[in-house]
Amino acid sequence: MELINNASLKSYTTFGVEAACDHLYRIEDVEELKLAVQYLDQPLILGGGSNILPLGSIHRNVLRVELKGIQIINDSDQPLVKIAAGEIWHEVVLWAIANNLGGIENLSLIPGTVGAAPMQNIGAYGVELANVFHSLEAIEIGSGQLVTFSNEECRFGYRESVFKTELRNKFVIINVTLRLSRQHQVDISYGAIQQTLNDWHIEKPTIRDVSKAVIHIRQSKLPDPAEIGNAGSFFKNPIISSSQFQLLKQEYPYMPGYPAGDHVKVPAGWLIEQAGWKGKRIGNVGCYEKQALVLVNLGNAKGEEVWSFAQEIIESVRIKFNVQLTPEVNLWS
Ligand code: FAD
Ligand code: NAP
Repeated sequence: MELINNASLKSYTTFGVEAACDHLYRIEDVEELKLAVQYLDQPLILGGGSNILPLGSIHRNVLRVELKGIQIINDSDQPLVKIAAGEIWHEVVLWAIANNLGGIENLSLIPGTVGAAPMQNIGAYGVELANVFHSLEAIEIGSGQLVTFSNEECRFGYRESVFKTELRNKFVIINVTLRLSRQHQVDISYGAIQQTLNDWHIEKPTIRDVSKAVIHIRQSKLPDPAEIGNAGSFFKNPIISSSQFQLLKQEYPYMPGYPAGDHVKVPAGWLIEQAGWKGKRIGNVGCYEKQALVLVNLGNAKGEEVWSFAQEIIESVRIKFNVQLTPEVNLWS
């Protein structure tokens, strides 16, 4: 374990906003993590910092989970693979492809760690973690007790889980077990993947082809956090009633919407763009010119500046469409 007093979180989050932190612990060992969560008061858990916006200084103990290891625990057509929480998600995707294991290729290039993936049930291009998730082990903060959660117990939803709601800041996830597959069924239902594969004249895509297409699309559309600070989609796509969607459609015939049970999912990026924010800049904060759902740190933005920019967007979308946007990013204070 390494303790850094008076740390700066700037290089530990992809938004790259300056934020002092009283005590930052980097932990590579499960037993040390158990002790830390028993003896440190209400710690905050940090992975790759790609979905966090610190608002000012953090007067808390921050535990950065750096546990490593990947293990196939029953080799079969659908092996279970147990992965330590500190592994980098995208490296695991590449490892799976190299081992001919399918199921997570659409989730290529999502930044962050494996331990954070269940938090918001990471998803992209029609696939979400819940599709391949078997179970996870977590340590309860306070007691240090080890608890196993099944897929059902995680209560996964659209960019949601029990760890983001009722059990927020109550557990540290230490490993995740996925059920991957050697019998591949690729999902290329999202238009952009299909289009890219068509452009490449690939008729029967392999999991590697799909991963390459996803990487290609993402690199052409999303800002690289190493160059421009951001945390991906700042807001969740709102899910609205079908009746509200029909009403809005009368006024905005080109408004996109996708079925979500008996509701409709509306792309937040479209709403933000229509409200006039795409490419707009206030001080050090901007709305990314290629994807309005992404807010960017254009210089030395403070977390509070990003948040006040986000609140202006929320308000203007509410006024224009009567739709409430909620942040997907975790606000730390
Ligand atoms: P962090 O940002 O460190 O933490 C996020 C939350 O999880 C915090 O509340 C933290 O306390 C908690 N947490 C972290 N580790 C643990 C743990 N071990 N135990 C318990 N709680 C923990 N997300 C998607 O779903 N789909 C995408 O396509 C996508 N694309 C992105 C693209 C870009 C360019 C960026 C910057 C972000 C994107 N994201 C996407 C968001 C982000 O990558 C994911 O949410 C990712 O899972 C966050 O991982 P992390 O390790 O960085 O978590
Ligand atoms: P996009 O293709 O421009 O589409 C805009 C939105 O419409 C997406 O958010 C997506 O919802 C929805 N959508 C598009 N096609 C759909 C379909 N066939 N069925 C259902 N919903 C559909 O989106 P993008 O911004 O380039 O992102 C591409 C993918 O990467 C999306 O899945 C997105 O979630 C993911 N992504 C996530 C983050 C993040 O930080 N969370 C950042 C970048 C990209 P969904 O978001 O529900 O898929």
